[in-house]
Amino acid sequence: MGRIKRIGVLTSGGDAPGMNAAIRAVVRTAIFNGCEAYGIFGGYQGLIEGDIKRLKSNDVSNIIQRGGTILKSARSMEFRTPEGRTKAAQMLAEHKIDALVVIGGDGSFTGAKLLIQEHDIPVVGIPGTIDNDLYGTDSTIGYDTAVNTAVEAVDKIKDTASAHNRLFFVEVMGRDAGFIALRTAIATGAEAVLVPEVETDLTDLEHFIEKDYNPKTSSGIVIVAEGEKSGGAYSIAEKVAQKHPEYDIRVSVLGHMQRGGSPSQFDRVLASQLGAAAVDALMDDQKSIMLGIMNKEIVHVPFNKTIKHTKNLNPELLNLVRILSI
Ligand code: ATP
Repeated sequence: MGRIKRIGVLTSGGDAPGMNAAIRAVVRTAIFNGCEAYGIFGGYQGLIEGDIKRLKSNDVSNIIQRGGTILKSARSMEFRTPEGRTKAAQMLAEHKIDALVVIGGDGSFTGAKLLIQEHDIPVVGIPGTIDNDLYGTDSTIGYDTAVNTAVEAVDKIKDTASAHNRLFFVEVMGRDAGFIALRTAIATGAEAVLVPEVETDLTDLEHFIEKDYNPKTSSGIVIVAEGEKSGGAYSIAEKVAQKHPEYDIRVSVLGHMQRGGSPSQFDRVLASQLGAAAVDALMDDQKSIMLGIMNKEIVHVPFNKTIKHTKNLNPELLNLVRILSI
């Protein structure tokens, strides 16, 4: 105890709403524990370049409700090289920063693990990504907000779909994972959901649509994850349209709006808890772990585990979409 005096914090990879709440929690918990807090701007690249500033308590005032990240985020090719990581370690030494909190996804944790191995710097991670694709935590910071945003948008699309008896294919974010798509589909009562984890069966999809959608009397919504393997919302919509020229089909891609906006109360509270737990873990001489939440309890997950394993979609929820769309 007491070895750590200066804690650095950075955000890395894709930004997510709630990252600011996590930064605030790290800074204030560090100060509460008698440490100094340092903000590293621009992810690992900013660390290599020494873009580092001390953060006092009031530097993180009035940010808990803001989307994005006050520390900016970036992707760094240089940090992927041993030379880049040596520069990063030198910068930390120059600023006498003796521990680091990384808020990001599994790529960021892979980089963190190498920094620990090569330079013996204590690093802990906080899961910050809208995709929710990290093993070892029920939820990542930003996921709840992103789903809320998608649901709100699909509700609006449903109004216009219903007015014109249209069939909409709505593409939501998720290059490698269908968590946003699946939850959005259930919350909006969609006819079907297409995710990267499950191969799309076009005949099966058409069968479902035929059952639920009548271009003369009803509307329909199909939620498609960005990373769906057969080519995404436009390509599937085109195939369905070729077979059914009588359908009134539209495609809507929600895009980056899902990353922005004020974080939900769930993400703010989760970020506050995980930010505080990250500093507590460092004060307890821990390293190479991600802080997560499982069944409402804060958990410590070794970087090794979260990097190696893939979080699976809940098959019961996938099934629920089918059952509830009959
Ligand atoms: P998201 O889930 O939002 O994509 P992420 O953390 O997985 O977040 P990445 O772009 O994969 O995002 O990684 C962020 C940064 O972490 C990279 O720009 C790079 O600097 C570092 N990084 C990723 N993978 C490695 C690796 N294998 N070795 C060293 N550093 C890495």
